[in-house]
Amino acid sequence: MKTLFQNCKILVRQQAQFQILENACLGVNGDTICYIGEKPPREAYELTRDYSGKLLIPGLYNCHTHSPMVLFRGAGNDKPLEEWLTQYIFPLESRLTSEAVKTASEFAIMEMLAGGIVSFTDMYFFPEMTARAVAESGIKANLTKHIQFTAQNPEVIQSSLAFVRDYNGAADGRILADFGIHSCYTCEKDAAAQYTALCNEAGGRLHIHLSETEKEYHDCMAQYGVSPAAWFADIGALHARTAAAHCVVLSESDRALLAQNKVNVVHCPTSNLKLGSGFAPVPELLEEGVNVALGTDGAASNNNLNLFEEMHLAAILHNGRLKDSTIMNTQSVMQMATAGAAKAQGRENCGELKVGYKADIAALDLDKPHLLSGYDERSLLTYSAQSSDVCMTMVDGKILYENGEYLSIDKEKVCRDMRRLLQK
Ligand SMILES: [Zn+2]
Repeated sequence: MKTLFQNCKILVRQQAQFQILENACLGVNGDTICYIGEKPPREAYELTRDYSGKLLIPGLYNCHTHSPMVLFRGAGNDKPLEEWLTQYIFPLESRLTSEAVKTASEFAIMEMLAGGIVSFTDMYFFPEMTARAVAESGIKANLTKHIQFTAQNPEVIQSSLAFVRDYNGAADGRILADFGIHSCYTCEKDAAAQYTALCNEAGGRLHIHLSETEKEYHDCMAQYGVSPAAWFADIGALHARTAAAHCVVLSESDRALLAQNKVNVVHCPTSNLKLGSGFAPVPELLEEGVNVALGTDGAASNNNLNLFEEMHLAAILHNGRLKDSTIMNTQSVMQMATAGAAKAQGRENCGELKVGYKADIAALDLDKPHLLSGYDERSLLTYSAQSSDVCMTMVDGKILYENGEYLSIDKEKVCRDMRRLLQK
């Protein structure tokens, strides 16, 4: 099936800069972008769509979340982090079932698709159920059966390996299965080292939490005599296939470790601010050549899965800290939300609107009072747009969400199941 979007604006990259094509056409053949241009294509299309007044952008990537935690949205809000975790989240998680994870994953996917997200990186329990939700919905995801509390559950390493073996490349390659180490404070170093060696031997990708809080940093120093970044470097876990979420508390030598080892850093500003942790030194990391992506973290610490908010914060936060309005810009933030993120997930030919790339596309309806600019329309994306401006989300050439409707998800059923779960 060949579809042509016409009369739209298209965000493309020319000479490494994002530019907007006016009154342009984008053709999709199967799962791939086959045409982009300001002139209509010569070849025929089976379906043409008039997208006047709309802007096509590369679909967004949420590179760190715990999608089923939409179940716990609002639990223990405004409590100190330790109390929030031990008094609210851990007890709730102890009652989780695989069915609840399936429904909550579907619910989270609905929120992400409606906000233009085409792919997410998840770390949570029962990832087999999230994989089913991903496969059925049509979205992309990097999933992991991560290891934690390895002393109590030594078998977790084997089940994590089995998950990678069984799920990597599933759903026509939409699902990538990563290795995952929850953190240096929930895993014994020897077990984490043994697991990392297996990951590296297999050439696997690794998803970790790194240096989220001062407490984590100081506890690691006290227990091991090294920083969390050095702890992960010691076990061989810092490399180009590693995505490290948070990276809030970093010394200069920690930053050098991340840069030298080409680690992908996932900036989660809302979660870090809400939990009073601070935020990652993104300008410094970018300056040192680190690839940075964006994540919402789970909905219990955000409290939504809205990447436009993360883009907005990433664009303004660091200027405020460094008292310089030129530090961050739309170009660097859009790179973090799209192409940089695709790289962090290890997805080739993704993250950009370009002929030959996967047709992972979000459309914004620009016919809104807050989206009219006579100047730089690109900057609408980071300073003005809301996730609710997304009117269409396409993954691998299939429209999964359009104008409030889901084409692959039974919205009423998922909402009904979710309400039933929340009542329990
Ligand atoms: Zn997290």
